[in-house]
Amino acid sequence: MRLCTECGKSVSGQEWECPFCHHETARLAGHLAFAPELAADSEGFEADYFATLAQLEAGNFWFRARNRLIIWALKRYFPQAVSFMEIGCGTGFVLSGIKRALPELSLSGSEIFSEGLTFAAERLPGVELFQMDARRIPFREEFDVIGAFDVLEHIRQDEEVLSQMYQAVRKGGGILVTVPHHPFLWSQVDDYARHVRRYRAREVVDKVSQAGFKVVRLTSFVSLLLPLLILSRFRQRFQAEEFDATSELRIGHLMNRTLETILDGERGLIRAGVSFPAGGSLLLVARRD
Ligand SMILES: [Zn+2]
Repeated sequence: MRLCTECGKSVSGQEWECPFCHHETARLAGHLAFAPELAADSEGFEADYFATLAQLEAGNFWFRARNRLIIWALKRYFPQAVSFMEIGCGTGFVLSGIKRALPELSLSGSEIFSEGLTFAAERLPGVELFQMDARRIPFREEFDVIGAFDVLEHIRQDEEVLSQMYQAVRKGGGILVTVPHHPFLWSQVDDYARHVRRYRAREVVDKVSQAGFKVVRLTSFVSLLLPLLILSRFRQRFQAEEFDATSELRIGHLMNRTLETILDGERGLIRAGVSFPAGGSLLLVARRD
């Protein structure tokens, strides 16, 4: 069910014109825009980061391994799902992976920055993409699964986002969430990425439960690489030269392959039921009963 962003009443049909207040949803570069006033600039992200990201993520071990983990969790915990919406889809890298792995799934992607959607639209023919503020999701019980991958840490009102996700997801469906783990790992990488926080496991579980969900799986990942991550983050803290946020992503081919192999092994353990208590990121799966 769709909700009017102006008056909040339910709207039927594909046109997004509200029969009650006659509000018509704007369009930006061809995409529905639910929060056009926030499309170009927002406190949570550097919009020009998308160009760099689009270039790097396809070849980078971390993005590739995270995609595989997300796709595994989606199949494992929501095998009946027919619809999936991603919040903060950025350049569409995750959605394009899901589309290849689960071609039957009906996919939607939302992003607050319309610039991300331009990249995403190229990668994702046939996927419904819209500009949206995750603090005001104009859907009620619409999607089987909603995903937010490294998004909540950018948003001050993360609890508001989670309760909006709860409202937008169908009963019996649920959410998949990844967030950066451990406040002590805070570094310039987080500053640059405009993170508001890194999460303790307890904090994300509490917030997700408060929103009404039942947590069914929580594990850290990038756990086997944690010592390397700590070294890398702390070295940056003491480096005098100018900070380069993308240096962690620009690594040699061999190193990239090695790290990806390690993360593949780690995913094997997660599939086998191991939940890691520590690592670079957290994966959380929760259900709406
Ligand atoms: Zn209305």
